Amino acid sequence: MLLGCHLSIGKGFTGAIEAAENLSINALQIFSHNASSWKMKTITKEAASSFQTRFKNSSVKVVVIHTMYLLNPASPDEVLFERSVAALEQEVKRAGILGIDRIVTHLGAHKGSEIEAGIARIVTALDRVIASETFSSYKGVEILLENTAGTGTTMGASFSELGAIISALSDASRVGVCLDTCHAFAAGYELRTCEGLAETLETLDREVGLERLKMIHLNDSKYPLGSRHDRHAHIGHGDIGIEGFSLIVNHKALHDLPFILETPKKFDGQADADRINLDLVRSLRQE
Ligand code: MN
Ligand code: MN
Ligand code: ZN
Repeated sequence: MLLGCHLSIGKGFTGAIEAAENLSINALQIFSHNASSWKMKTITKEAASSFQTRFKNSSVKVVVIHTMYLLNPASPDEVLFERSVAALEQEVKRAGILGIDRIVTHLGAHKGSEIEAGIARIVTALDRVIASETFSSYKGVEILLENTAGTGTTMGASFSELGAIISALSDASRVGVCLDTCHAFAAGYELRTCEGLAETLETLDREVGLERLKMIHLNDSKYPLGSRHDRHAHIGHGDIGIEGFSLIVNHKALHDLPFILETPKKFDGQADADRINLDLVRSLRQE
């Protein structure tokens, strides 16, 4: 099973690999810099090559970069939009330099400019990144679009929006989707029953195509189905619950994808939350 979680790069990129090995995980998500700041420290050749060597010789098989939180490629504000396009291109470049083959990104919020306008902005932003020299230099890097909970005017809560964006791109050959279970559930997609999960995945297949689904963010939800609140809970301790996760991690369409936890880092005050959640997920897996 490809399983892991989001870990800090506080001790450097190689430090994150070491932390992943300590947790015995084979998949890892990181930020490439402080996710709440537009500033990106240059990745030196030395840092990149030591990471690449460390990664190659590690039990970690999958590494993904999550883009920064400030990005808003759906923004009607010209300055923020331009910054977002530039930052997205930089994230591709940082992944390429590190030898990481995917980045996952949120799609921002339309801020009242309406969904259609938001979709058009996102398509323009992605098309520009895809047409950039950076994107053609780092041919191994794919961009994964993450579904959202649909809070406020955030884009990408519905699979049809994701599908509309992807089908409008000039070249979507290196674009895929990351499905966040908390977000999908909060956006109204049932995951807790066999029939519900099947229907949700049928919808995803119809609107986007299951072949585009490349990764799962495995998070329980603090709020009920359709609440549109983006609040992650520990696996089995939220409204999706153990039964739901047991169906999700064993579903044949999802089985071989990397599962990445973005669950809270503390568990009743214990700092060992990742280990507890990871162990629980492993115990749900049937093979
Ligand atoms: Mn995310
Ligand atoms: Mn997520
Ligand atoms: Zn979330």
